Amino acid sequence: MQGSESKSQASNEAKTKAKARVCEVIDAKADLLVEVSHRIHANPELAFDEHFAHDLLCDTIEAEGLTVQRGAYGLDTAFEARAGTDGPVLAVCCEYDALPGIGHACGHNIIASAGLGAGLAAAAVAEDLGGTVAILGTPAEEGGGGKVYMIERGAFDDVAAALMVHPADHDLLWMNTIAIHQVRVQYQGAAAHAAAAPHLGRNALDAAVLGYMNVAALRQHILPEERIHGVFSDGGDKPNIVPQTAGTYWYVRSPTLESLEPLKARVLACLEAGATAAGCTMTYEWQDPSYADMIESEPLLDAYAANAQTLGRTTLEPDRMSAVVGSTDMGNVSYKVPSIHPMIKVAPYACAIHTPEFAGHAASPLGDLAVLDGAKAMAMTMVDLWCEPELLAAAQAAHSAAR
Ligand SMILES: [Zn+2]
Ligand SMILES: [Zn+2]
Repeated sequence: MQGSESKSQASNEAKTKAKARVCEVIDAKADLLVEVSHRIHANPELAFDEHFAHDLLCDTIEAEGLTVQRGAYGLDTAFEARAGTDGPVLAVCCEYDALPGIGHACGHNIIASAGLGAGLAAAAVAEDLGGTVAILGTPAEEGGGGKVYMIERGAFDDVAAALMVHPADHDLLWMNTIAIHQVRVQYQGAAAHAAAAPHLGRNALDAAVLGYMNVAALRQHILPEERIHGVFSDGGDKPNIVPQTAGTYWYVRSPTLESLEPLKARVLACLEAGATAAGCTMTYEWQDPSYADMIESEPLLDAYAANAQTLGRTTLEPDRMSAVVGSTDMGNVSYKVPSIHPMIKVAPYACAIHTPEFAGHAASPLGDLAVLDGAKAMAMTMVDLWCEPELLAAAQAAHSAAR
């Protein structure tokens, strides 16, 4: 009895010491981490084109003495760096893609830099604690599904758990993550002179507009958690030519991959009806990969929240007002291994992601603090996982039960 007590006391001491150590490492690298965040922020790059961010992160990790696999898993802008020894492999995911027109309005520069800090700090203690950290550069979260390709190509095969933080206007345990599949739709009609021979035309734009209106009517009769949103990608060329082609582009979202399937069928029926009404034909292409909902790892979230609390961040369950509803390819990772995707406050209350205002906050003092706190909270959670085998076992048991 006494023996096991003193053993657990010794392991608690080792854990406390290691947590202090990872925080020291991050504080010592604070200027570097903030600089990386700001440089990525100042050079926004779209999905799969994040060469500046990829090179900067790889150069930085190499300068810190780790070996980096550039262009990992067959993706030009993915990378992987590992450090440590035999024992559980813990992955920290760095996202760094931006949005068209509004730059780093999702704050992925903060995800990248917080992940970098957590990874470097964990690397400093991994060998002592008996584990490996994998810093994964995961491109193209905004629609390209970089993580999905990395999962398919084995990036998470030996990973015991995966972590990341995502910026928001609150400190939240999770994003309300729902599954998504995108679809591109093309309508084909018949061109004719719009004044001289309108009766000979079949108006593809009408087909697209009617399809759009059908979806608008459908929205009244779907689950409150479901989302459908579309834009017109092609609407004809000239008013005096009956449009012979038109196109729309849609995001269809539902709470789970399973519940998404019937919703997809209903959306297609709406869009197809537009074609029928206008005497046109319709083709569509689902844009793979689809993004899964997120299986939250409660044991990992509890550990993360306790660690964030030591930094003065109270990380809450989202409520109706604070919830961030969206989709992420981290959901697909969460189907593979126990994962967390907590939200970290970088902006004032009610400043939504994907707005120019949010992009401004992603390189502000609040954003910089989130880089350091996010890195520390994740690194301390990795320390917990290496020091407490029962925590990892609980996370893995909960994951198996949820799958
Ligand atoms: Zn986003
Ligand atoms: Zn994002």
